[in-house]
Amino acid sequence: MDRRQFLGSLSLGGLGLMSLPNAWAEDSNTTPVLFPVPTDTGIGGRVVVVGGGMSGAAVAKYLRLWGGTGVNVTLVEASPSYTSNIMSNTVLTGQRTLASLNYTYATLSSHYGVNRVTAKVSGIDRAQKLVTLEGGGTIGYDRLVLAPGLDFDLLPGMTSLAEYETLVPHAWKAGPQTQLLRNQLVAMPAGQNVVLTIPKAPYRCPPGPYERVCVIADWLKRNKAGSRIIVLDANADIIVEKENFSHAFTTLYAGVVDYRPGSTVTQVNSAQRWVTYNQVINGNPVVTNGQIQAAVLNPIPPQRAPQLLKDAGLLSADSSKPFAPVDVRTYQSAADPLIHVIGDASLTTQPKAGHIGNQQGKTCADAVLRLLSGRPMNTQVVTNSACYTPITATTATWLSAMYQYDPATRTMVILPQHNNGKAIAAAEATSDNYQDMQRWFTTLMGETFS
Ligand SMILES: Cc1cc2nc3c(=O)[nH]c(=O)nc-3n(C[C@H](O)[C@H](O)[C@H](O)COP(=O)(O)OP(=O)(O)OC[C@H]3O[C@@H](n4cnc5c(N)ncnc54)[C@H](O)[C@@H]3O)c2cc1C
Repeated sequence: MDRRQFLGSLSLGGLGLMSLPNAWAEDSNTTPVLFPVPTDTGIGGRVVVVGGGMSGAAVAKYLRLWGGTGVNVTLVEASPSYTSNIMSNTVLTGQRTLASLNYTYATLSSHYGVNRVTAKVSGIDRAQKLVTLEGGGTIGYDRLVLAPGLDFDLLPGMTSLAEYETLVPHAWKAGPQTQLLRNQLVAMPAGQNVVLTIPKAPYRCPPGPYERVCVIADWLKRNKAGSRIIVLDANADIIVEKENFSHAFTTLYAGVVDYRPGSTVTQVNSAQRWVTYNQVINGNPVVTNGQIQAAVLNPIPPQRAPQLLKDAGLLSADSSKPFAPVDVRTYQSAADPLIHVIGDASLTTQPKAGHIGNQQGKTCADAVLRLLSGRPMNTQVVTNSACYTPITATTATWLSAMYQYDPATRTMVILPQHNNGKAIAAAEATSDNYQDMQRWFTTLMGETFS
């Protein structure tokens, strides 16, 4: 099996649900083929899904496709449409527009019969089994699936989240901040520096910050002679695909990328765009209160599950892991078996990534339908993660892993037969991988939203 066949098998068969129809198939024109929602499964119940991103859209779709018309699914999403984070780094370089990353809920509603409510959920009443909407009103549930993504924290010295929106965009949720960061890069004088900061893991999309460093460095080389990108990484080292990223930083982008591991931000001045930091390597202080002036400052903040989950008592008691513990066979919350938490908000051993969010949505849909119909749970859950990373404007690498439920640790572990239990990375960045990346992205988004 070659790499392309292998990745294809991951995206269609990795979940172990091959006996069930897949809702999306590709013909040579990549036109989605929509399978009908069955009418005779005998399963019934009211499921409310909060958040229509990568995991929430997937669970809503598959609850109807596998559960049939007797399963009443209501998707409550704050925005009228979804903007993909995946590929949003290429908006920064002008290769894509934000509009090209926009996905609507039209097919979920019209074809799959998912009820859509455009509103923000402001509270969860676990005793009454209902959610409260910000503008007023409540919706009752038999089972609740929470897929709201993440909230972002302030960095030291910042006083308001508005600073991210107007002065120092993190752009770690694609939207207006992505456009602002792009505009700031374009307006920056040549020869001046970009500063990007990376929080301690776990954060959304492990390779994402390093990918952003590469595509910005590539763009600076071609558009802003003499400019550099200085990277303050709170982690002790590059946390994924180390060989590919270090190779890019030290060869392709030698003199452009200045990577500083073990660097914790101690102060951000958003108005004047400077940061101070401490750098510690192998336990030894290397820089104390170092200050860097940026022309463009892109601080990627520490992240946590949204306040909604904290208020509902669903988060881990360990404040260093501010996410929702779940049973990864069903994504039931450890605090409430009628609530399921999927995607970035959940606490699992899998990466916080859109491809995994899609997989968790399917696993959760299958589990909810089993629970609604009194069938035994699936104890052999398998998920897969595939992630492509642009390294230049024309080349990319990839990383993939298959996970299986491990009863001993009650976690998802990389299959022992999958590269001896380790993720597999591309040998190098190539243009062939770049083409595969476009196809993978189209397939993943089509599979999630149509
Ligand atoms: C720059 C960047 C690049 C990335 N690249 C990749 C990649 O190559 N591959 C990959 O697999 N992943 C990638 N990711 C990660 C991926 O985007 C996330 O992991 C994924 O989107 C998480 O899915 P989710 O469903 O948990 O949350 P989201 O997709 O963020 O969706 C959450 C939704 O919930 C809604 N919501 C939140 N709160 C409420 C509420 N109270 N009421 C109603 N609605 C609410 C939000 O509006 C949002 O639409 C990348 C991320 C970034 C930032």
